[in-house]
Amino acid sequence: MVRFEYLEPTSLGEAVSLVDRHWGQVRVMAGGTDLLVRLKQRVIRPQYVLNLKRVPGLDGLTYAKGQGLRIGALTTIRTIETSPVVKEHYPVLAEAAGMLGSVQVRNLATVGGNLCNASPSAEMPPGLLAYGAQARIVGPKGERTVPLDQFFLGPGQTCLLQGDLLAEVLVPESAPKTAGVYIKLSPRAAMDCAVVGVAAVVTLEDGKCKDCRIALGAVAPTPLRPRSAEDLLRGKPLDPGLRERAGQAAMEEAKPITDVRGSAEYRKEMVKVLTRRAVQQAFQRAMAS
Ligand SMILES: Cc1cc2nc3c(=O)[nH]c(=O)nc-3n(C[C@H](O)[C@H](O)[C@H](O)COP(=O)(O)OP(=O)(O)OC[C@H]3O[C@@H](n4cnc5c(N)ncnc54)[C@H](O)[C@@H]3O)c2cc1C
Repeated sequence: MVRFEYLEPTSLGEAVSLVDRHWGQVRVMAGGTDLLVRLKQRVIRPQYVLNLKRVPGLDGLTYAKGQGLRIGALTTIRTIETSPVVKEHYPVLAEAAGMLGSVQVRNLATVGGNLCNASPSAEMPPGLLAYGAQARIVGPKGERTVPLDQFFLGPGQTCLLQGDLLAEVLVPESAPKTAGVYIKLSPRAAMDCAVVGVAAVVTLEDGKCKDCRIALGAVAPTPLRPRSAEDLLRGKPLDPGLRERAGQAAMEEAKPITDVRGSAEYRKEMVKVLTRRAVQQAFQRAMAS
């Protein structure tokens, strides 16, 4: 392990000012499940590690009817997986959380760490994007709210600027007759990153798709919204031909790479298959809701 100075701020203001002062030499730590691996492997050699765990107000879930869900950046993946409120109102997030690593990892890993690590194959971004979530960011110049589809800039890169910390994820209230699904394809049943992840959230009105968001993981440098597939579905009832065309459109927007987990061609084909399946399941669940 590399030697570093350990910082443990006890307020958000102190955390922001320390990150700002030591920018470029400091690494923020939440659950540490990504960070500690990279420190041990000496992939990163920061002069300072700043632990967020003693900063009050960054932890926990609150839901208010009509307003939606607020998820503090330090909320663990296990909390999201097991929360009755999340299961009832945002089941896609609970589903995705339950597929991240093992229970031991989920007990430490946080939603903020999952987003700020900005891995293209991360578990939580697709579901959050499909629900239209926003990131509340606090920095030296104050705070701002950014739609999650503008948060990711590339592998390991986010829109966070000098001194910025992710404070909270805001998920809007879903309209009636809204439902969705998250499907993860991975080589092993557990403890592996997604080869392809697909989330779809659909709102129905009179049996037709009033609104729809699809988000893909692991098939581009950032999590991706295949807008052409969403546009195809809007305003129409689902039939097998439309489902097929939506899958095809999503496949055409995906820009996967070949790596140890799968070839680019295989990933593209799986985007088509899994988008079709996700859309079908989301429609079925919305009909039944
Ligand atoms: C065995 C194992 C299996 C795993 N399986 C999966 C999997 O299936 N799917 C998956 O998506 N991930 C997986 N992971 C990766 C990891 O567990 C998740 O990405 C986790 O959510 C990271 O959260 P953390 O709190 O541990 O982040 P940390 O390691 O503490 O931080 C990650 C990064 O985010 C930054 N950061 C953290 N919080 C903030 C904040 N509030 N503001 C600004 N920057 C911040 C840190 O500086 C760091 O760069 C796995 C990891 C392990 C060790």
